[in-house]
Amino acid sequence: MNIFNPKKEESNKIKVPEEMKDRIPDGLFLACPYCGKEIYNKELGPYRVCPNCNYGFRLQAHERLALFATDFTEFDESLTISETDFPGYAEKLARAKQQTQMQESVLTGVGRIDGQQTALGIMDSYFMMGSLGTQTGEKITRLFEEATARRLPVVLFTASGGARMQEGIRSLMQMAKVSAAVAAHQEAALPYFVVLTDPTTGGVTASFAMQGDLILAEPHALVGFAGARVIESTIHEKLPKDFQRVETLLANGFVDQIVPRQDLVARLGLLLALHQEEAR
Ligand SMILES: [Zn+2]
Repeated sequence: MNIFNPKKEESNKIKVPEEMKDRIPDGLFLACPYCGKEIYNKELGPYRVCPNCNYGFRLQAHERLALFATDFTEFDESLTISETDFPGYAEKLARAKQQTQMQESVLTGVGRIDGQQTALGIMDSYFMMGSLGTQTGEKITRLFEEATARRLPVVLFTASGGARMQEGIRSLMQMAKVSAAVAAHQEAALPYFVVLTDPTTGGVTASFAMQGDLILAEPHALVGFAGARVIESTIHEKLPKDFQRVETLLANGFVDQIVPRQDLVARLGLLLALHQEEAR
């Protein structure tokens, strides 16, 4: 089903017993990572959503682009980091590029959502866990700068494991750099819509994922800063179920609305239309 990276759903696959392997193809059934229900792959439909709980299975940036936008023109397609002296980093990066057909963990450009023109960024958790590398930050910064110059709104789909440890302090710098570009965009009275997708964590949550004028989220997406296990071992307490799920964030005021993936095009289209500048 997944044309970009057939290996990516390996961890969700239901194990087929040896004696049945000749009759049941591998990957035909998946387990929902949220509710655990076993699902026939085709039941996920084009939006790759669990029919039981509405959890949206993780998508690669190009898959999401195909579902959500039209008339897309990409920015900075070939931007990539050149210094990779951290041990093993160059190999990991090469593998990520090959698997995702991207040069960095975010896709940026301009396009239309439900007919409305917008600057658009889509992070890809299959590219080194969507980690925030120097060039990821640079691409998102340029996206906001370009949007400010062209007086366009920004829609950003976040998905990230956080800062890219292989790039050390240069990775952490991106949080401040992108935040400054977001602020300049906001000062120009232009809207910024975030869509939190599973998972959005670490430095991305600690910066631009939480700076949107409106923050939408896909059902049951995991959103947090530190991992639940790290918190549990620090405070020596068991965390409640759904501690870092968007439903909890919504109840505590960190998210404005949870929107099923199937409804996102129409919802974003409506928000973009409502916030359109009169001259455009
Ligand atoms: Zn489910």
